[in-house]
Amino acid sequence: DIFYLLHNRGIKVEAKPFAIGVRIEHSQSLIDQIQYHGDDQNPYLPPASYSLVEQVDGLGVYSFCMCPGGIIAPCATDIEEVVTNGWSPSKRNNPYSNSGIVVSVSPQDLPNYKDNDPFVCLEFQKKVEYDCWVAAGKTQKVPAQRMTDFIAGKVSTDFPKTSYQPGLTAVDLNEVLPDMLASRLRKAFVAFGHKMKGYLTTEAVLHAPESRTSSPVKIPRDDFSLEHIEIKGIYPCAEGAGYAGGIISAAIDGINCMDRIIEKYN
Ligand SMILES: Cc1cc2nc3c(=O)[nH]c(=O)nc-3n(C[C@H](O)[C@H](O)[C@H](O)COP(=O)(O)OP(=O)(O)OC[C@H]3O[C@@H](n4cnc5c(N)ncnc54)[C@H](O)[C@@H]3O)c2cc1C
Repeated sequence: DIFYLLHNRGIKVEAKPFAIGVRIEHSQSLIDQIQYHGDDQNPYLPPASYSLVEQVDGLGVYSFCMCPGGIIAPCATDIEEVVTNGWSPSKRNNPYSNSGIVVSVSPQDLPNYKDNDPFVCLEFQKKVEYDCWVAAGKTQKVPAQRMTDFIAGKVSTDFPKTSYQPGLTAVDLNEVLPDMLASRLRKAFVAFGHKMKGYLTTEAVLHAPESRTSSPVKIPRDDFSLEHIEIKGIYPCAEGAGYAGGIISAAIDGINCMDRIIEKYN
């Protein structure tokens, strides 16, 4: 709403690259076995994490916000959408391991790209979230599919237990997600299966979508004063304004903006 409010008042906002895909869940014991090469009962080793990246057809596909011993949470912020995100309790002691697996998207990559359209990425994000909401039955259930079924293009007949409390609806995500995402995710999962033996498994379940990796819109600011390039006294700051992705980078950006404001008034 803030982006549209600024735009409608003639204040410049811009489209910004972001990343979008799915959240995948394995059992934590499987990830421990893969990462610790079978030594998964070792009491001195913490629940294992992983980090994966692959270039697929010109775009990056990578793991994002991997949560060992974690939970997939419903994170919609509006009606008529589903959004997932992940988190881990401090002990990381849930039986599940989840991670976003997302495709890096620039405004120019999108089918509806128009020069100077600040909302091309935001509208793409919204459409994916809406389509997933419709596909899963217009509740907070998410459309889901076993990883191997996603690659084979068939709807899963059942699921292992999930940490996602609202529940799952079986669909073919290849028909729900835009092909530019689905086709790259399929190839990336095969490549990830080679990098981490056992990662590509029928026991892993895709939950869609993971769509809030970072903001799809940027509110431009002067590099030095950190004020909006047109309106003095507005400090576009942290994640929503397009200057951070995550807790620490958002906090540091907040400190930087406060430093500039203090300098200005001193
Ligand atoms: C489930 C979940 C798990 C996450 N896990 C991690 C993690 O493990 N590590 C990590 O680095 N990041 C994680 N994140 C992301 C992290 O929370 C964000 O990157 C970070 O909070 C962004 O900080 P921010 O200050 O930019 O925005 P926010 O923390 O969203 O703060 C924005 C504030 O502005 C307020 N606001 C909005 N609109 C208005 C308005 N019109 N008027 C007045 N106030 C308004 C909001 O209420 C909010 O308090 C997670 C996010 C979620 C949802």
